[in-house]
Amino acid sequence: TSTAYFRPTWIDVNLSAVDSNVRLLKEYIGEKVHLMAVVKGNGYGHGMLEIAEASISAGATWLGVASLDEALAIRSKFSHDIPILVLGYVAPQYLSLTSQLRITVTAISLEWVQEAARIAQQPFEFHLKIDTGLNRLGLITIDEVETVMKMVSLNPNLNCTGVFTHFATSEDMQNKSYFHQQLASFHTFLNVIPNRTNIIIHCANSGATLYHPEKPFFNMVRLGKALMGPPNEGLKHLLPMQLQNTLSLHSILDLVKQLNPGDKVGYVGEYTATQHQWIGTIPMGYADGWHQQFKATSVLVDGKRVPIIGRISMDQLMVALPKKYPTGTRVTFIGQQDNEIILADEIAQKASQPRSEVFTSLSSRLPRIYR
Ligand code: PLP
Repeated sequence: TSTAYFRPTWIDVNLSAVDSNVRLLKEYIGEKVHLMAVVKGNGYGHGMLEIAEASISAGATWLGVASLDEALAIRSKFSHDIPILVLGYVAPQYLSLTSQLRITVTAISLEWVQEAARIAQQPFEFHLKIDTGLNRLGLITIDEVETVMKMVSLNPNLNCTGVFTHFATSEDMQNKSYFHQQLASFHTFLNVIPNRTNIIIHCANSGATLYHPEKPFFNMVRLGKALMGPPNEGLKHLLPMQLQNTLSLHSILDLVKQLNPGDKVGYVGEYTATQHQWIGTIPMGYADGWHQQFKATSVLVDGKRVPIIGRISMDQLMVALPKKYPTGTRVTFIGQQDNEIILADEIAQKASQPRSEVFTSLSSRLPRIYR
């Protein structure tokens, strides 16, 4: 998609809020613990390079990405040598590239390590992923880990510089048993890792870092969500610092008109006016990432919440207005107008999605303006 700079619909990204969030998080985890800024998914929709840069200057000492392509984009942009871990799958055939560019990859299974050992022509760095219960990536048994450790001791190309796992339920404060089970399992796996003082051990995402008294930081935490603002109301009281919101989303009313009773709005005539009704058309649609499920949430016009009516089109949508407003009036989808605020969490909750999915849905057609 081409970014639509000439269309009055845009995302404001507040980099000083990111800076403040990273500094507070860094202070909380302490000097000895690395802060990995997880910037995958285009920096949780905020812009990968911009969030990476802001996080590094605020004290992040590692970056986490999902793919080799994301890692390459960062390496080609920044001159500094910040360590990067690819958290997702990298095909072993690309390991010479990761070695050259000092990119650390994730060993996702015993099969992957065996293939990598067979293919690698030179030493490459990897962190060994242990699956303690998410059942996504990682080695599953102690036997597998012992086999890998034996291979590492015999093959100088296998440079294991870290061990990690990932939690499935770190934000579930009602039932912490699965979290505790995963953490205990991770400790059991760590017992069979030799030379543990020379490697980076990590398991905590935002939830595990912020809401659990165990503070399972080891020597690194991997933070994505927390960089992008406070959690939902259910978790906010547990937050040990004041995080700031980092993203707002705005557009304008580009056409305002009055409907007669019985007039229908949008495709398939989903909405029918029951009285004389002012409505506004807004240049924002599902190709921008504003999904039909987001319709349940209002938008802000003149500091008031107004409902989206009718089906959301690809590039436009309509709202019901309490009165006539001039064209050009600002509309806020995420963010504040006067005393009203719409948080991404509210949209996420009504759409039954994680907040990060609301952010990453925002398509590349929307320009990101950095302030
Ligand atoms: N670590 C891994 C392996 C992840 O996949 C993610 C994100 O999904 C994170 C860390 C960051 O998690 P969060 O955004 O909850 O901080």
